[in-house]
Amino acid sequence: VELLELKWPDVAALPKDTPIVIPVAALEQHGRHLPVFTDSLLLGEVLRRAKQLLHDRVLFTPLMWLGNSEHHLDFPGSMSASPRAYLDLLKDMAENFLFHGFRRIVIVNGHGGNIVPAQQALFELRQKYRQRDDLLLLSATYWTLGAEPHKVDPNIKQQQMGHACEWETSMMLRLRPELVGDLTKVEPVELGNRFAPAHRAWITRDRTAPGHIGDPRFATAEKGETMFRVFTAGVVAFLERVLAWDGKGWDA
Ligand SMILES: [Zn+2]
Repeated sequence: VELLELKWPDVAALPKDTPIVIPVAALEQHGRHLPVFTDSLLLGEVLRRAKQLLHDRVLFTPLMWLGNSEHHLDFPGSMSASPRAYLDLLKDMAENFLFHGFRRIVIVNGHGGNIVPAQQALFELRQKYRQRDDLLLLSATYWTLGAEPHKVDPNIKQQQMGHACEWETSMMLRLRPELVGDLTKVEPVELGNRFAPAHRAWITRDRTAPGHIGDPRFATAEKGETMFRVFTAGVVAFLERVLAWDGKGWDA
């Protein structure tokens, strides 16, 4: 069900165990060859496909396109909510549904910079509602739900998500090829971190001059279709688990 098509009595009449999916993405630079709305377009397409299988069992809010993109702000066109404002925004969006009695809140994310804020927002909400024992507060990023596109198509070279990389460029070639720039002039940018597995705080300019991270030269629309297929399957399987939850157990 699409929230934006409902009247308030329709929402009031929904079972309170209906999972509420809040999609969050970003508007930020994606190298010289991809448009700034890439993350929002890609998550929108994954969810468009997922909705065909889940639409009458899950409530989907409109996609929140403004994300935590502070690390990209050196690149023109990037828009960002400052990290603390973004944290409160996510908390408020989830709490709106708690206030109206819903119990299963799922942030489905399509941007790396939103991962920590989404986890922190739900962590704080859980502490605030600590007297409750019926809440399911989840966040998940569509490419970290178990899908491994490089194992489905061995021609896919990258084994993890980069930025405006082979993966994102392939999906954009599948979805909106007219928005993808010239790939023949793009140079690869290493994905590595010499202090791994430690997390090193970064701004995008530390890692890349053109703005992408990874190797977009190997992107194809065919790979993009494979990625949309496996990422959508991952999101659908995850939301089926949310639907199947017994309403109380931690492990069940
Ligand atoms: Zn992206």
